[in-house]
Amino acid sequence: DYTRKPIVIVGTGLAGYNLAREIRKLDTQTPLILISADDGTYYSKPQLSTAFQKRRTPLDLMTSDARTMAQSLAAEIMTFTRVQAINSAEEYLTLESAGRTQQLAYARLVLAVGADTVTAPLEGNASGAAVPINDLQDFQRFYAASAGTRSVLIIGGGLIGCEYANDLVQAGFTVHVVEPQSEVLATLLPAPAGQLVNQCLTTAGVNFHLGTRVVRLERHQGQLLATLENGEQILCDRAISAIGVRARTQLAEQAGLKVARGIVTDRLLQTSAENIYALGDCAEVDGRNLCYVAPLLAGARALAQTLCGNPTEVRYDAMPVTIKTTLCPVTVSPARPWISGSWEIQRADSNGVRAVFVDSQGLLQGFALCGDAVSEAARLTEQVPALLQ
Ligand code: FAD
Repeated sequence: DYTRKPIVIVGTGLAGYNLAREIRKLDTQTPLILISADDGTYYSKPQLSTAFQKRRTPLDLMTSDARTMAQSLAAEIMTFTRVQAINSAEEYLTLESAGRTQQLAYARLVLAVGADTVTAPLEGNASGAAVPINDLQDFQRFYAASAGTRSVLIIGGGLIGCEYANDLVQAGFTVHVVEPQSEVLATLLPAPAGQLVNQCLTTAGVNFHLGTRVVRLERHQGQLLATLENGEQILCDRAISAIGVRARTQLAEQAGLKVARGIVTDRLLQTSAENIYALGDCAEVDGRNLCYVAPLLAGARALAQTLCGNPTEVRYDAMPVTIKTTLCPVTVSPARPWISGSWEIQRADSNGVRAVFVDSQGLLQGFALCGDAVSEAARLTEQVPALLQ
């Protein structure tokens, strides 16, 4: 009975809130409940890693509080409330808030629970001091402590690690980045592109330690002492862990839903259970677990249609990723994972790199641009295939 039971969305990140907005464009009547383990503030997560260079405080990043969002969405928002279990057969949730549990029935359920950061396996009495900055709360804690911080160690030289290095060095911090691969951004870019990012950030003052990893973190006279696999030691005030994210699948898995790298869905974003859908970083849509904004926006539009009675499969156009290393901007359009081929470096100089990823038949499947070559992104985006037709 959809007139009484609500659509329930778990998660108030970009996925949850954008879906709620799309639903309300189509249907202003169906009861809508959003549940969040956090305070439900609406913010744009990508802005976390450019905040210091723009001198933005945590308050500046908060677009709307939960109360304002609830009013504008004509929805109920349950904050500081965690979904503990899903009963998919009887279609209700078990919620926990401030030590109290309650049950909530749903007509349709959408899991938009995001991704967790992977914890770096460290030894030493300060291993827990390497923290992620993966949401607004993490950022608030880091920001609050930043007044007493001069030097920061970033564990991981991927997208998130490089963006924070780029941001913090421009705000005057001494920055060290430790990356096990021989280049930064190695999973996304061909070597010459990673090297140019490395050069630009190094010129700005970032200290890279490549081809090695942090093995120990210890407290040392009020600071942190990191020991690297190659024997080198780094003294710093704070450590950020940025070695990757992993879809939050536990809740779905415990409920018996099919999970792989993410919560498995079809192109309608429906999970293996009836009336349960997944969207955003937690979802693996037709084999793709893409932790970016563009796919979740496309998913939110399609899923809103589906939930409002018009089943609509999601399509992904080519969706190039912009890496916000502003000292050396990067736009990359990775080839779909099952495509084999190779990088062709068309240009590599101190101002820019242009590389194209070509399959065995000579077809363009992806590209990587950095420095002044990013101006060619729009032209190349038109030439690469859609991610999900
Ligand atoms: P989240 O924002 O993580 O939201 C998850 C929500 O679920 C939260 O509200 C949480 O409280 C709630 N939740 C989880 N478990 C439970 C539970 N059991 N019960 C109740 N609530 C629960 N992408 C880009 O495309 N471009 C960029 O430039 C870019 N930059 C980024 C920079 C940084 C520093 C980071 C960390 C990510 C960046 N990304 C970028 C990725 C992008 O931000 C994410 O893909 C997107 O924000 C994910 O949104 P989400 O709603 O799926 O998850």
